[in-house]
Amino acid sequence: MLRAGRPSASLGRAVDTFSPVTRSCARPACSQPAAATLSYDYNARTAWIDLLEDEAHPMRHDLCGPHADQLSVPVGWDLDDRRVAVAPLFREPIAS
Ligand SMILES: [Zn+2]
Repeated sequence: MLRAGRPSASLGRAVDTFSPVTRSCARPACSQPAAATLSYDYNARTAWIDLLEDEAHPMRHDLCGPHADQLSVPVGWDLDDRRVAVAPLFREPIAS
């Protein structure tokens, strides 16, 4: 598994004051490991899904892959999934 962690993190030590915490999905009754971070801006009515942030943040929510994929936003909001590294230039145009 590829981890975007800091190289200074202790590897192979069972006991560590700051042992790496595996964050889990914020959805109730979901214990899957977090794979994405949800953030949002009420004023902009926009929500963003990014690859999991290195550190937890009180204003962001960790989601597992399936819950991130299934996320829907309220009517009038935009959802920007920034996990995909596809430039907008190459997205299919909206059929009219
Ligand atoms: Zn989940």
